[in-house]
Amino acid sequence: MDYLPVCFQLNEQPVLLVGGGVIATRKARLLHRAGAQLHVLAPLITDELVSMAGGVGKLEYETWDERSLAGFRAVIAATPDRAVNASVSARAQAQNIPVNVVDDPALCSFIIPAIVDRNPLLVGISSSGASPVLARRLRSDIESRYPSSYGDVARFMGEQREQVALILSEEDQRRQFWERLLDDTEIIATLLRGERESADGIFQSTLDSAASIAEKDPSLRGAVYLIGAGPGDPDLMTFKALRLLQRADVVLYDRLVGPGILEMARRDAQRIYVGKQRSEHAMPQTDINTALLRLAKEGKRVARLKGGDPFIFGRGGEEIAELLAEGVDFEVVPGITAASGAACYAGIPLTHRDYAQSVRFITGHTKDHRLDLPWDQFLNPTETLVFYMGLAGLHIISQALIDHGRSPETPIAVVEKATLPNQRVITATLASINQRVAEEKPEAPTLLIIGDVVRLHSELNWYSPSA
Ligand code: SAH
Repeated sequence: MDYLPVCFQLNEQPVLLVGGGVIATRKARLLHRAGAQLHVLAPLITDELVSMAGGVGKLEYETWDERSLAGFRAVIAATPDRAVNASVSARAQAQNIPVNVVDDPALCSFIIPAIVDRNPLLVGISSSGASPVLARRLRSDIESRYPSSYGDVARFMGEQREQVALILSEEDQRRQFWERLLDDTEIIATLLRGERESADGIFQSTLDSAASIAEKDPSLRGAVYLIGAGPGDPDLMTFKALRLLQRADVVLYDRLVGPGILEMARRDAQRIYVGKQRSEHAMPQTDINTALLRLAKEGKRVARLKGGDPFIFGRGGEEIAELLAEGVDFEVVPGITAASGAACYAGIPLTHRDYAQSVRFITGHTKDHRLDLPWDQFLNPTETLVFYMGLAGLHIISQALIDHGRSPETPIAVVEKATLPNQRVITATLASINQRVAEEKPEAPTLLIIGDVVRLHSELNWYSPSA
C-alpha cells in the first residue's frame, strides 16, 4: 500500500487554498462540504470560491509569498504555476502541515480520493495517483449501485448504537446483531423507501430476539461455514463464500487456499493454518473437527475454507457430521472444484460432443505406494478421467491404464497450480508422461486430465498466466 486512507476531520478548521481558479474551486467544494474554514490566497478568485469562503473564511487577493503556514490544518496548492505549487509544498512539509498539490502526486503529502458521499457513509477510492480516471470510473459504479438514501441507512444504524450497546454487552454479540440486521434485506429496503416506522419495528424485534438469545445460551450463536473457496484464483469464489468469509471471527484454512483468498477475510479475524500436505499433516482431521466444534461452541463464527468444493475429495462430510450431531449451526458453500478450474483455465473441455460423453473424478491418493482402483471401469475411450492427488502415483496410474487396455497414445495433461498466475500445463501421452514429468518437475497442487479432450488444449488454450 502506497498510502493509508484516513478520514480527516476539518469541520471549522482553517485550510489554506493557494489558487483561485477553476481547479482550486473544484477542490474547495469538497473542503467546503467537509465544513472547512477556507482561506483563499490568489490574485483572482472565482465568485463561487468567494461565496464558499463566506463569512468564516478569508480572501486575500495576493500572490504566494513564501509565508509561514502555522495555524493551518491543511494546505492545498492549485495554481497553474508548478514553481509556486512546489514552493507551497516545500514550506508546508517543512512545517509538517499536510499538503496537497492538485494533479501533482510527487508534491503531495496527502492525496484526496474520488469520493462517494452518502454522508455519514463515505467511500473513498484512490489509485494512489496512478489513474484518477480509473478511480472515478469505480466511483460511478459504486454510486449507481448504492442510492443516496444509503446515507439514511447509515444514520439510522448510528442512532441505534447506544441502545444496542446497552442491551448487548459483548462486542461479538453486537457485531453479530448488526450483521443479522443487515442480512435482513427487508429493513434496508424499508429504510431506502424512507419508511422509518416499519424500520423501527423490524429493528426492535431483531434486537429483542438477539437479546433473548444472548441471555439464554451464548453457545447458540456460534456457527461453522464450510466454504468451498475454489481452485486458487480468488475471483472464482462465489458471492456467498465471500459474504460468509467476511462474517467469520475465525478462519481455518489449509494449503490449497491461496493468500489472495485469505486476504478477503475480516482484518481482525483469527487465522488458523491446519496444514494438509501429503507429507505434512499440520493438524489431523479429528483435531480439525474438534476445533470447529469447540470454536463454534465458544460462540464464534468459524469459516472453514476448503480448496475447490468441500464435497469433492474435501472430507466436508466428516467435518459437518459432528456439527450435526452436536446441534451446531452450519452452512456448506459449494465451490468450483479443481477439475472445473483446471479444465477451463487449460482450455480442455471435460466433455465434448466429438471426444467425451462423460467425465469421472477419481482420487489418485496412494497408500503404501499402492492404488487399489477399479481399473476395468476406466477404459471407455469416450470418458474423460480426472485424477485428484495423482502426481505421486502418476507412474502407477499411467501403467495400470495401459495394462488394463487403454491406448498408450491416450493424451494426458498435468495441470499444475491451476487458475493461479503460475499455472502450467504439461501434455503428453500415457506412454510418455512420466518422462515429461521427470523433465518438467511440476509441483503440487496438480491435477491429471486423461482422454481425447486433452488434444483440444493446443487449440483452446486461452489463459496466459503472468509468471
Ligand atoms: N476439494 C478439492 C480437492 C481436494 S483434494 C476440490 O474440489 O478441488 C486435493 C487435490 O485437488 C490436489 O492434490 C490436486 O490434485 C487438486 N487441486 C486442488 N487445487 C488445485 C489446483 N489449483 N491446481 C491443480 N490441482 C488442484
